[in-house]
Amino acid sequence: MVALSSVDIVGAGPAGLYAAILMREAMPGCRVRVWERNPPHATFGFGVVFSDQALDFLRADDPETHDLVTPRMERWRNMTLVHRGETVTIDGIGFAAIGRLELLDILQRRARAAGAEITYDCPVEDGQGLKGDLVIGADGLNSVVRAGEEAAFSPVWGQFENHFAWFGTERAFDTLTQTFLRTDKGTLNAHHYRYAPGRSTFIVECDPATFDAYGFAALDEAASARLCADIFAGALGGAPLLTNRSLWRRFPRLWCENWVSGNRVLLGDAAHTAHFSIGSGTRLAMEDAIALVKALCAHDALAASLAAFQAARQPVAKKIVDAANSSAAWYDGFAERMVRAPLDFAFDYITRSGRVDMGRLRRLSPDFMRRYEAAREGPQ
Ligand SMILES: Cc1cc2nc3c(=O)[nH]c(=O)nc-3n(C[C@H](O)[C@H](O)[C@H](O)COP(=O)(O)OP(=O)(O)OC[C@H]3O[C@@H](n4cnc5c(N)ncnc54)[C@H](O)[C@@H]3O)c2cc1C
Repeated sequence: MVALSSVDIVGAGPAGLYAAILMREAMPGCRVRVWERNPPHATFGFGVVFSDQALDFLRADDPETHDLVTPRMERWRNMTLVHRGETVTIDGIGFAAIGRLELLDILQRRARAAGAEITYDCPVEDGQGLKGDLVIGADGLNSVVRAGEEAAFSPVWGQFENHFAWFGTERAFDTLTQTFLRTDKGTLNAHHYRYAPGRSTFIVECDPATFDAYGFAALDEAASARLCADIFAGALGGAPLLTNRSLWRRFPRLWCENWVSGNRVLLGDAAHTAHFSIGSGTRLAMEDAIALVKALCAHDALAASLAAFQAARQPVAKKIVDAANSSAAWYDGFAERMVRAPLDFAFDYITRSGRVDMGRLRRLSPDFMRRYEAAREGPQ
């Protein structure tokens, strides 16, 4: 195990808090400090989803956190897609969801109980000022730790075309639902699912032409929420949309060629992004922390352990990031794909990441596949 006397972690999101818990558990003699710019109960967004498989990593690696998190989750076995007003159920695509704030609360309590020192309301202006034996950049997309050594970390940036805004609503949906709409101003999609008994995430997404036609750029958060609630009144049953830093954005594509520079290491969104449509960013962030602490325990020298972390973790994360990028690219083109009939469109949707073969799909979603294949064989 690497002998560390102090670790500085920038960012108390899922990556930073989870790294703090695991570091303290593995190395009780090491001082672990977490620096967070926001107050303890502030966060962006609403709920986050995990795919069924995404929870397996917690069950295997950390049953204690798994047992704290899973009873607070909303779960469902099927997902629903709505196109041309028709509802298609895709069985076997299970997800579980939790409020982002609730997840962070659980991790905060676990980190404090493990002896980590968390300082809120404390933005780190310059990662170079941190003097821990190890400095962990878990400070998300606009990481200051990464910015301090841009050339060493070699970030590669891109951006998806669609615009999206992350809203919430008090309406509870039965399953994770994808509602696609064609209006006289263009096409839109909403990803919506409940993450607590009376709360759901409602992410609205549209292409640039639709974004311009609705004039979203000129609207403030509240006006955008009203307009989107109006457009999706059918799906929402007339319920309003709630805001929490629900600004229109385009999803960034980031991949750092290196996650390690000297005694600095990047985790989670600071190192890579994964489009929200496959529900993996939080899981990736937490799995990065697991891999880092495993590597620190398996080697005596810091440099060797960080190199081992990067070598082991990058290929695994890359597969998921590639799948997320394929999924995001599908969303960028959903308007053209909407010429398809609902079942064809749903099939196109579930095979969008390029990772699902027909045999697997028949096992995973037997009812949907029976309907889809019967429709293809029937009169066209
Ligand atoms: C619309 C949308 C929907 C999403 N849905 C899902 C989903 O359903 N499932 C899922 O798994 N993922 C989802 N994600 C992705 C997920 O939110 C991120 O991948 C995840 O939060 C990454 O965790 P992180 O700890 O690396 O970064 P973050 O969660 O961004 O945490 C970084 C922390 O660092 C702090 N920080 C930043 N700079 C500084 C500084 N200079 N000093 C001190 N503190 C700083 C920030 O305040 C923040 O608390 C979604 C993302 C978006 C945009």
